[in-house]
Amino acid sequence: MQSGKMKALMKKDGAFGAVLTEVPIPEIDKHEVLIKVKAASICGTDVHIYNWDQWARQRIKTPYVFGHEFSGIVEAVGENVGSVKVGEYVSAETHIVCGECVPCVTGKSHVCTNTAIIGVDTAGCFAEYVKVPADNVWKNPAGMDPAVASIQEPLGNAVHTVLESQPAGGTTAVIGCGPIG
Ligand SMILES: [Zn+2]
Ligand SMILES: [Zn+2]
Repeated sequence: MQSGKMKALMKKDGAFGAVLTEVPIPEIDKHEVLIKVKAASICGTDVHIYNWDQWARQRIKTPYVFGHEFSGIVEAVGENVGSVKVGEYVSAETHIVCGECVPCVTGKSHVCTNTAIIGVDTAGCFAEYVKVPADNVWKNPAGMDPAVASIQEPLGNAVHTVLESQPAGGTTAVIGCGPIG
């Protein structure tokens, strides 16, 4: 188990920008996994947080480490974790659900009323290490570029959006040329 300090990009207080600093390496509980970050990508959400716009002011509590899209290697697992092993190459689903509310217990955890988001409500991945619940871990193919593995969250966003419509044979306008576009 790692202990000690790590470099992290922090929102120290409610203002524009961020600070590269040292913070303690996160400690995991029985159900969590500690991951050594290989690549992290910058989401539009992170730009809101960095700029400290109106949304960020209402949503974010400082000080904390931000960032939620990443890939990395499992460094340690909690004692109850059987689904993930040390050394595996992973990314993570960024929404942490409670498992106890009505949507969660009826198979609709995508609309969990207590959803927490990695790097928004919890310490994020703009750091050497990030911890996530084992249930959030997504295993990557060994040969996948870490930078590509990091953008699976926005990729999932785009894929689900496209599959909600019936684009086959039609003409589609893609508005917005970020990674999701
Ligand atoms: Zn994102
Ligand atoms: Zn829930």
